[in-house]
Amino acid sequence: MNYCSACGAAVSLQRISGDERERYVCDDCGKTHYQNPLVLVASYVCVGTQILWIRRGIAPAVGKWAMPGGFMENNETPEAAASRELMEETGIQVSVDDMTLVSVSSILNMAQTHLVFRCHLDQTPEFWRLKKRSNAAGLVSTTFRGMSSLFLGSSRSCDKFMVG
Ligand SMILES: [Zn+2]
Repeated sequence: MNYCSACGAAVSLQRISGDERERYVCDDCGKTHYQNPLVLVASYVCVGTQILWIRRGIAPAVGKWAMPGGFMENNETPEAAASRELMEETGIQVSVDDMTLVSVSSILNMAQTHLVFRCHLDQTPEFWRLKKRSNAAGLVSTTFRGMSSLFLGSSRSCDKFMVG
């Protein structure tokens, strides 16, 4: 970060008393800017022995396969975020109560924490309805290991999911 979000002046890394880490402090108004991880949610949508994936239609990683998911919003539970992202990206509605947490992981160099949920569909979704916001969706067998085409965070948690 370069500038203070409160006053627009330059910030610099400083050590604050009682804090083990350096923090960005505004050179003008003195505001301390704490930087914390962003929380993302994603879902394994299981349909029989298959998992639903989306092929990303928007940056980053256009064309790569990923689990439906995205950033948590303020005033939203993780389950509600997972349910909302699934609806936004695929049009599939899954109740918050049917979202089960299966993994928590971090991508340290991106300062992201990923919460991954699992849910089940009783029947194959109607794919003609899935094309929303330029994402495409597809079902992939759980034995599918073409993971080089997977988007970053999806690849890591998928490996855990497959092993576990
Ligand atoms: Zn300032």
